[in-house]
Amino acid sequence: MDDYDSLLERARSQVPEDAFKKSGERFKVPDVQLMVQGNRSIWQNFQETINILNRPGKEVLKFVAGQLGTAGSMEGSNALFNGKFNVEQVSEVLNRYIEAYVICPVCTRPDTEIQKDSQAYYLVCSACGARTSIRPV
Ligand SMILES: [Zn+2]
Repeated sequence: MDDYDSLLERARSQVPEDAFKKSGERFKVPDVQLMVQGNRSIWQNFQETINILNRPGKEVLKFVAGQLGTAGSMEGSNALFNGKFNVEQVSEVLNRYIEAYVICPVCTRPDTEIQKDSQAYYLVCSACGARTSIRPV
């Protein structure tokens, strides 16, 4: 009987580490469709993007505008930013948002939601159950 623990230990050590990892499957975020009109940049598939991210548009807009150092607003399914920006700039900021506020750092899946405590924000993952402290947007 005294061998049971060591057997178990040996069995565990033989399972490849990958078996414990989730697939890491990423969701499909649509490419940013951006149009510059006059002195404004219009993110044309903003609504579609936030639907997939499952995040409120206001929050994403605030983050993106803040990172671009400009003001933004929503108009229909578009997001508008003052100033001329290109697709690369907006995509980079969007990726930063996804890394910080959507992807679970524990299992790297996007099945998360943001919960607010009395003072703190948490990224709560429904795939692995992790609760990660995050900075407010
Ligand atoms: Zn997770």
